[in-house]
Amino acid sequence: MIQICHWDEIPKFRSIIEFNKFNSWISSQIEKGNAEEILTDETYHGLEKRRIKCLDCNTTWILVSPDPGYFPGFWKTEESVTDNR
Ligand SMILES: [Zn+2]
Repeated sequence: MIQICHWDEIPKFRSIIEFNKFNSWISSQIEKGNAEEILTDETYHGLEKRRIKCLDCNTTWILVSPDPGYFPGFWKTEESVTDNR
């Protein structure tokens, strides 16, 4: 059975401010023990990439930083990132 994570995807960040807020929020989730960072040296086409696991349901999420003016960044499940490749 596939469990759906209670976190929502953000297909595009509308601004660097929105991204920074989200990045701080997810970091606070890691500090509280709701999520775990899986350290990676990987980038997403040269952009910073964080891999974060939800400890409620074990879904792995990918956070890619925006490249202002070129790419909005995103927050998506690892599964959906792989499907869209
Ligand atoms: Zn979850």
